[in-house]
Amino acid sequence: MKTKVFISFMTVLQLFTYRLDAQFVLPPLQYTYDAFVPHIDSVTMRIHYNNHHRAYVNNLNAAIDKHPELKNKDLEELLSGITAVPEDIRVAVRNNGGGHYNHSFFWMLLNPGQTKPSAKLEKAIVAEFGSVNNFKAEFEKTATARFGSGWVWLIVSDGKLKIVSTPNQDNPVMSDAPDKGAPILALDVWEHAYYLKYQSNRSAYVKAFWNVVNWDKISDLYNAYSDLY
Ligand code: MN
Repeated sequence: MKTKVFISFMTVLQLFTYRLDAQFVLPPLQYTYDAFVPHIDSVTMRIHYNNHHRAYVNNLNAAIDKHPELKNKDLEELLSGITAVPEDIRVAVRNNGGGHYNHSFFWMLLNPGQTKPSAKLEKAIVAEFGSVNNFKAEFEKTATARFGSGWVWLIVSDGKLKIVSTPNQDNPVMSDAPDKGAPILALDVWEHAYYLKYQSNRSAYVKAFWNVVNWDKISDLYNAYSDLY
């Protein structure tokens, strides 16, 4: 089997959105399904990764199969050029390509151990939000305010940190996103991400998220992007 690997610009940051034989594939998790108990339960992790994320990957591949000329584009290119994707598959690429990108990014940002922001990132957070606690409160507020399904992000935009939220599987990389930027932190606030453990209490899920955030990775991303975006 000839292996063709397409790599996005985030490769150096270990976000692999690679393809095998021009098919997008589910990226392997770097931890077990029970790694985040009690904050995220293992059944949710298994279903979220193995069913939801897998479905986005499969549906994205099915859409791209209809337009073989897109097979050499990586995920980043597809999303940052979403308005140029052929109309008959544009919604499918938006929803499923977005789903694949967002979840690949999200898994990378979880960590079972305790971490903290680098001095450089903490300084930027304090400059923008007053304190790390204020930042967290603002992020939580944005997450609970997102009506229906979507995501909340911390992005670098014009050299500054900004909290934004997107509906469905949209993200700040998409060419038609109202708030574009380079994501360094993301939280999935779809009910499938928390309902088994938290039911309708999204706020408790968002607060628990801070216990499993990989600040080392977020700090690396900030370091890479702070001068670029
Ligand atoms: Mn999800």
